[in-house]
Amino acid sequence: QPIQQPDDTRALLETIYQQARAIEGGEVASYIPALAEVAPEQCALTLATLDGQSVSVGDAAQRFSIQSISKIFGLMLAMERVGESLWERVQMEPSGQPFNSIVQLEWEKGIPRNPMINAGAILVADVLVSRYSASKNAVLSLVRQLCGADDVFADGRVHQSEMAHGHRNAALAHLMKSFGNIEADVDEVLDHYFWQCALTMSTQQLARSFAFLANRGVCPFSQKRIVARRDAQRINAILSTSGMYDQSGEFAFTVGVPAKSGVGGGIVAVVPDYGVIAAWSPKLNHYGNSQRGLYMIREVATRLGLSVY
Ligand code: GLN
Repeated sequence: QPIQQPDDTRALLETIYQQARAIEGGEVASYIPALAEVAPEQCALTLATLDGQSVSVGDAAQRFSIQSISKIFGLMLAMERVGESLWERVQMEPSGQPFNSIVQLEWEKGIPRNPMINAGAILVADVLVSRYSASKNAVLSLVRQLCGADDVFADGRVHQSEMAHGHRNAALAHLMKSFGNIEADVDEVLDHYFWQCALTMSTQQLARSFAFLANRGVCPFSQKRIVARRDAQRINAILSTSGMYDQSGEFAFTVGVPAKSGVGGGIVAVVPDYGVIAAWSPKLNHYGNSQRGLYMIREVATRLGLSVY
Protein backbone atom coordinates (compact mmCIF):
# COMPACT_ATOMS: atom_id res chain seq x y z
CA GLN A 1 0.00 0.00 0.00
CA PRO A 2 1.64 3.33 -1.04
CA ILE A 3 1.79 6.00 1.64
CA GLN A 4 -1.08 8.41 0.95
CA GLN A 5 -0.47 12.12 0.49
CA PRO A 6 -2.37 14.43 2.90
CA ASP A 7 -4.71 15.68 0.15
CA ASP A 8 -5.73 12.14 -0.71
CA THR A 9 -6.24 11.40 2.96
CA ARG A 10 -8.53 14.40 3.40
CA ALA A 11 -10.63 13.37 0.40
CA LEU A 12 -10.85 9.82 1.70
CA LEU A 13 -11.88 10.92 5.19
CA GLU A 14 -14.43 13.34 3.74
CA THR A 15 -16.05 10.56 1.69
CA ILE A 16 -16.17 8.20 4.66
CA TYR A 17 -17.56 10.95 6.90
CA GLN A 18 -20.34 11.77 4.44
CA GLN A 19 -21.28 8.10 4.17
CA ALA A 20 -21.32 7.78 7.96
CA ARG A 21 -23.65 10.76 8.31
CA ALA A 22 -26.21 8.96 6.22
CA ILE A 23 -26.31 6.02 8.64
CA GLU A 24 -29.56 5.98 10.60
CA GLY A 25 -30.35 4.23 13.84
CA GLY A 26 -28.66 3.76 17.16
CA GLU A 27 -29.53 5.48 20.42
CA VAL A 28 -27.77 8.12 22.48
CA ALA A 29 -26.85 6.75 25.93
CA SER A 30 -29.74 7.74 28.17
CA TYR A 31 -28.95 5.81 31.35
CA ILE A 32 -26.75 8.81 32.21
CA PRO A 33 -29.39 11.60 31.90
CA ALA A 34 -26.86 14.38 31.19
CA LEU A 35 -25.47 12.41 28.23
CA ALA A 36 -28.91 12.13 26.64
CA GLU A 37 -28.90 15.90 26.07
CA VAL A 38 -26.08 15.80 23.50
CA ALA A 39 -27.03 16.73 19.90
CA PRO A 40 -27.21 13.23 18.39
CA GLU A 41 -26.23 13.90 14.78
CA GLN A 42 -22.78 15.29 15.51
CA CYS A 43 -20.02 13.39 13.80
CA ALA A 44 -16.23 13.72 13.65
CA LEU A 45 -13.23 11.85 12.31
CA THR A 46 -9.51 12.49 12.84
CA LEU A 47 -6.51 10.59 11.53
CA ALA A 48 -3.20 11.52 13.15
CA THR A 49 -0.04 9.87 11.89
CA LEU A 50 3.31 9.49 13.61
CA ASP A 51 4.99 11.91 11.20
CA GLY A 52 2.98 14.71 12.83
CA GLN A 53 0.21 15.06 10.22
CA SER A 54 -3.35 15.29 11.50
CA VAL A 55 -6.35 15.39 9.19
CA SER A 56 -9.87 15.96 10.50
CA VAL A 57 -13.38 16.21 9.13
CA GLY A 58 -16.70 17.13 10.78
CA ASP A 59 -17.01 18.25 14.41
CA ALA A 60 -13.43 17.30 15.24
CA ALA A 61 -12.81 20.28 17.55
CA GLN A 62 -16.03 19.69 19.49
CA ARG A 63 -15.40 18.21 22.95
CA PHE A 64 -17.55 15.36 24.17
CA SER A 65 -17.70 13.04 27.15
CA ILE A 66 -14.90 10.51 26.68
CA GLN A 67 -16.47 8.05 29.16
CA SER A 68 -14.78 4.65 28.97
CA ILE A 69 -11.91 5.90 26.83
CA SER A 70 -10.65 7.31 30.15
CA LYS A 71 -10.11 3.73 31.33
CA ILE A 72 -6.83 3.78 29.41
CA PHE A 73 -5.52 6.81 31.33
CA GLY A 74 -6.42 5.21 34.66
CA LEU A 75 -4.81 1.92 33.69
CA MET A 76 -1.56 3.62 32.63
CA LEU A 77 -1.18 5.28 36.03
CA ALA A 78 -2.10 2.14 37.98
CA MET A 79 0.35 -0.02 35.98
CA GLU A 80 3.08 2.47 36.67
CA ARG A 81 2.28 2.78 40.36
CA VAL A 82 1.79 -0.84 41.43
CA GLY A 83 3.49 -2.90 38.70
CA GLU A 84 2.89 -6.64 38.43
CA SER A 85 0.76 -6.88 41.56
CA LEU A 86 -2.07 -5.10 39.70
CA TRP A 87 -2.72 -8.37 37.85
CA GLU A 88 -3.53 -10.17 41.08
CA ARG A 89 -6.54 -7.89 41.49
CA VAL A 90 -7.78 -7.65 37.89
CA GLN A 91 -7.48 -10.23 35.11
CA MET A 92 -6.47 -9.73 31.48
CA GLU A 93 -9.11 -11.91 29.81
CA PRO A 94 -11.94 -10.80 27.52
CA SER A 95 -15.28 -10.95 29.31
CA GLY A 96 -17.71 -11.75 26.49
CA GLN A 97 -20.23 -9.85 28.64
CA PRO A 98 -21.66 -6.31 28.43
CA PHE A 99 -19.44 -3.57 29.88
CA ASN A 100 -21.51 -3.18 33.03
CA SER A 101 -22.18 -6.87 33.70
CA ILE A 102 -22.20 -8.06 37.30
CA VAL A 103 -22.65 -11.86 37.05
CA GLN A 104 -19.05 -12.78 36.22
CA LEU A 105 -17.81 -10.66 39.10
CA GLU A 106 -19.78 -12.80 41.55
CA TRP A 107 -18.54 -16.06 40.02
CA GLU A 108 -14.94 -14.87 40.02
CA LYS A 109 -14.95 -13.66 43.60
CA GLY A 110 -14.67 -9.94 43.00
CA ILE A 111 -11.72 -10.14 40.57
CA PRO A 112 -12.82 -8.32 37.39
CA ARG A 113 -12.16 -9.95 34.03
CA ASN A 114 -10.16 -7.03 32.61
CA PRO A 115 -9.54 -3.30 33.20
CA MET A 116 -11.73 -2.17 30.26
CA ILE A 117 -15.08 -3.29 31.64
CA ASN A 118 -16.62 -1.12 34.36
CA ALA A 119 -15.75 -3.43 37.27
CA GLY A 120 -12.10 -3.49 36.18
CA ALA A 121 -11.93 0.28 35.75
CA ILE A 122 -13.52 0.80 39.18
CA LEU A 123 -10.84 -1.50 40.61
CA VAL A 124 -8.20 0.63 38.86
CA ALA A 125 -9.85 3.75 40.32
CA ASP A 126 -9.45 2.17 43.76
CA VAL A 127 -5.71 1.75 43.10
CA LEU A 128 -5.45 5.42 42.10
CA VAL A 129 -7.47 6.72 45.04
CA SER A 130 -5.44 4.57 47.46
CA ARG A 131 -2.00 5.24 45.98
CA TYR A 132 -2.13 8.89 44.91
CA SER A 133 -2.63 11.80 47.29
CA ALA A 134 -4.65 13.58 44.56
CA SER A 135 -5.81 10.95 42.09
CA LYS A 136 -7.85 13.32 39.90
CA ASN A 137 -4.91 15.68 39.53
CA ALA A 138 -2.70 12.76 38.53
CA VAL A 139 -5.11 11.84 35.72
CA LEU A 140 -5.59 15.46 34.70
CA SER A 141 -1.90 16.22 34.36
CA LEU A 142 -1.36 13.03 32.36
CA VAL A 143 -4.22 13.88 29.98
CA ARG A 144 -3.12 17.50 29.56
CA GLN A 145 0.44 16.44 28.86
CA LEU A 146 -0.69 13.86 26.30
CA CYS A 147 -3.05 16.10 24.35
CA GLY A 148 -0.92 19.23 24.66
CA ALA A 149 -3.72 21.40 26.08
CA ASP A 150 -4.04 22.91 29.57
CA ASP A 151 -7.77 23.38 29.41
CA VAL A 152 -9.05 19.80 29.57
CA PHE A 153 -11.73 19.42 32.27
CA ALA A 154 -14.35 17.01 33.51
CA ASP A 155 -17.95 18.03 32.82
CA GLY A 156 -19.46 18.61 36.26
CA ARG A 157 -23.01 17.93 35.09
CA VAL A 158 -22.13 14.55 33.61
CA HIS A 159 -20.12 13.70 36.72
CA GLN A 160 -23.03 14.58 39.04
CA SER A 161 -25.53 12.85 36.77
CA GLU A 162 -23.63 9.59 37.02
CA MET A 163 -23.11 9.98 40.77
CA ALA A 164 -26.89 10.25 41.10
CA HIS A 165 -27.84 7.48 38.67
CA GLY A 166 -24.89 5.07 38.65
CA HIS A 167 -26.49 2.40 40.82
CA ARG A 168 -25.14 -0.48 38.80
CA ASN A 169 -21.58 0.82 39.07
CA ALA A 170 -22.12 1.31 42.80
CA ALA A 171 -23.27 -2.32 42.99
CA LEU A 172 -20.11 -3.48 41.20
CA ALA A 173 -17.95 -1.49 43.63
CA HIS A 174 -19.76 -2.78 46.70
CA LEU A 175 -19.60 -6.37 45.46
CA MET A 176 -15.82 -6.07 45.00
CA LYS A 177 -15.55 -4.45 48.43
CA SER A 178 -17.45 -7.40 49.94
CA PHE A 179 -14.80 -9.72 48.46
CA GLY A 180 -12.04 -7.54 49.90
CA ASN A 181 -10.84 -6.32 46.49
CA ILE A 182 -11.51 -2.59 47.09
CA GLU A 183 -9.25 -0.86 49.62
CA ALA A 184 -10.55 2.70 49.75
CA ASP A 185 -13.95 4.09 50.63
CA VAL A 186 -16.44 2.99 47.93
CA ASP A 187 -17.93 6.47 47.49
CA GLU A 188 -14.50 7.97 46.95
CA VAL A 189 -13.64 5.30 44.38
CA LEU A 190 -16.90 5.88 42.51
CA ASP A 191 -16.38 9.64 42.63
CA HIS A 192 -12.98 9.24 40.95
CA TYR A 193 -14.34 6.77 38.38
CA PHE A 194 -17.32 8.95 37.39
CA TRP A 195 -15.12 12.04 37.32
CA GLN A 196 -12.63 10.53 34.88
CA CYS A 197 -15.48 9.25 32.67
CA ALA A 198 -16.78 12.86 32.54
CA LEU A 199 -13.58 14.28 31.01
CA THR A 200 -14.36 16.04 27.74
CA MET A 201 -12.05 15.94 24.73
CA SER A 202 -12.30 16.27 20.94
CA THR A 203 -11.31 13.67 18.35
CA GLN A 204 -8.31 15.88 17.51
CA GLN A 205 -7.17 15.76 21.13
CA LEU A 206 -7.81 12.03 21.50
CA ALA A 207 -5.90 11.19 18.33
CA ARG A 208 -2.92 13.14 19.55
CA SER A 209 -3.13 11.76 23.09
CA PHE A 210 -2.89 8.11 22.13
CA ALA A 211 -0.15 8.42 19.52
CA PHE A 212 2.36 7.10 22.08
CA LEU A 213 0.57 3.73 21.98
CA ALA A 214 1.24 3.53 18.24
CA ASN A 215 4.87 4.46 18.86
CA ARG A 216 5.99 1.89 21.45
CA GLY A 217 5.32 4.14 24.41
CA VAL A 218 7.05 7.32 23.17
CA CYS A 219 5.05 10.43 22.25
CA PRO A 220 6.07 11.06 18.62
CA PHE A 221 5.53 14.82 18.92
CA SER A 222 7.53 15.56 22.09
CA GLN A 223 9.79 12.47 21.86
CA LYS A 224 9.05 11.91 25.56
CA ARG A 225 8.65 8.37 26.86
CA ILE A 226 5.15 8.10 28.31
CA VAL A 227 5.09 4.41 29.33
CA ALA A 228 7.60 1.57 29.12
CA ARG A 229 7.67 -0.23 25.78
CA ARG A 230 6.36 -3.36 27.46
CA ASP A 231 3.44 -1.47 29.01
CA ALA A 232 2.50 0.01 25.61
CA GLN A 233 2.41 -3.53 24.19
CA ARG A 234 0.36 -4.75 27.12
CA ILE A 235 -2.16 -1.92 26.88
CA ASN A 236 -2.55 -2.53 23.14
CA ALA A 237 -3.06 -6.24 23.81
CA ILE A 238 -5.82 -5.49 26.31
CA LEU A 239 -7.44 -3.02 23.91
CA SER A 240 -7.36 -5.66 21.17
CA THR A 241 -9.10 -8.27 23.29
CA SER A 242 -11.39 -6.09 25.44
CA GLY A 243 -11.49 -2.48 24.25
CA MET A 244 -14.76 -2.79 22.34
CA TYR A 245 -16.46 -4.88 25.06
CA ASP A 246 -18.39 -7.89 23.80
CA GLN A 247 -17.96 -6.63 20.23
CA SER A 248 -14.15 -6.92 20.50
CA GLY A 249 -14.02 -10.17 18.52
CA GLU A 250 -16.01 -8.75 15.63
CA PHE A 251 -13.92 -5.58 15.75
CA ALA A 252 -10.69 -7.58 15.52
CA PHE A 253 -12.19 -9.57 12.66
CA THR A 254 -13.40 -6.59 10.62
CA VAL A 255 -10.93 -3.83 11.62
CA GLY A 256 -7.97 -5.51 13.27
CA VAL A 257 -6.37 -2.86 15.51
CA PRO A 258 -6.37 -2.12 19.25
CA ALA A 259 -9.25 0.25 20.08
CA LYS A 260 -11.35 1.71 22.86
CA SER A 261 -14.87 3.06 22.83
CA GLY A 262 -16.96 5.08 25.28
CA VAL A 263 -20.72 5.58 25.68
CA GLY A 264 -20.27 9.26 24.80
CA GLY A 265 -19.87 7.95 21.24
CA GLY A 266 -16.10 8.23 20.94
CA ILE A 267 -13.77 5.52 19.61
CA VAL A 268 -9.97 5.61 19.38
CA ALA A 269 -8.14 3.04 17.29
CA VAL A 270 -4.38 2.62 17.61
CA VAL A 271 -2.48 1.55 14.51
CA PRO A 272 1.00 0.45 15.65
CA ASP A 273 3.84 2.20 13.81
CA TYR A 274 1.34 4.29 11.86
CA GLY A 275 -0.93 6.52 13.96
CA VAL A 276 -4.34 6.88 15.59
CA ILE A 277 -7.86 7.09 14.17
CA ALA A 278 -10.36 8.87 16.44
CA ALA A 279 -14.06 8.99 15.61
CA TRP A 280 -17.10 10.37 17.38
CA SER A 281 -20.85 10.31 16.93
CA PRO A 282 -23.22 9.95 19.90
CA LYS A 283 -25.69 7.29 18.71
CA LEU A 284 -24.72 3.83 19.97
CA ASN A 285 -25.42 0.26 18.93
CA HIS A 286 -26.61 -2.25 21.51
CA TYR A 287 -23.06 -3.03 22.65
CA GLY A 288 -22.64 0.64 23.62
CA ASN A 289 -20.30 1.40 20.71
CA SER A 290 -20.86 4.38 18.38
CA GLN A 291 -22.65 3.25 15.25
CA ARG A 292 -21.20 5.85 12.89
CA GLY A 293 -17.88 5.83 14.71
CA LEU A 294 -17.50 2.11 14.07
CA TYR A 295 -18.32 2.59 10.40
CA MET A 296 -15.76 5.37 9.97
CA ILE A 297 -12.96 3.51 11.73
CA ARG A 298 -13.66 0.31 9.85
CA GLU A 299 -13.64 2.13 6.51
CA VAL A 300 -10.42 4.03 7.19
CA ALA A 301 -8.68 0.86 8.37
CA THR A 302 -9.94 -1.21 5.46
CA ARG A 303 -9.24 1.33 2.72
CA LEU A 304 -5.74 2.03 4.03
CA GLY A 305 -5.01 -1.61 4.78
CA LEU A 306 -4.25 -1.03 8.46
CA SER A 307 -5.17 -4.34 10.15
CA VAL A 308 -2.30 -5.68 12.22
CA TYR A 309 -3.21 -9.29 11.52
N1 GLN B 1 -19.41 5.97 32.80
C1 GLN B 1 -19.96 4.90 32.02
C2 GLN B 1 -20.51 3.82 32.93
O1 GLN B 1 -19.91 3.57 33.92
C3 GLN B 1 -18.87 4.36 31.15
C4 GLN B 1 -19.33 3.20 30.32
C5 GLN B 1 -18.81 3.23 28.92
O2 GLN B 1 -18.38 4.24 28.38
N2 GLN B 1 -18.92 2.10 28.28
O3 GLN B 1 -21.53 3.24 32.68
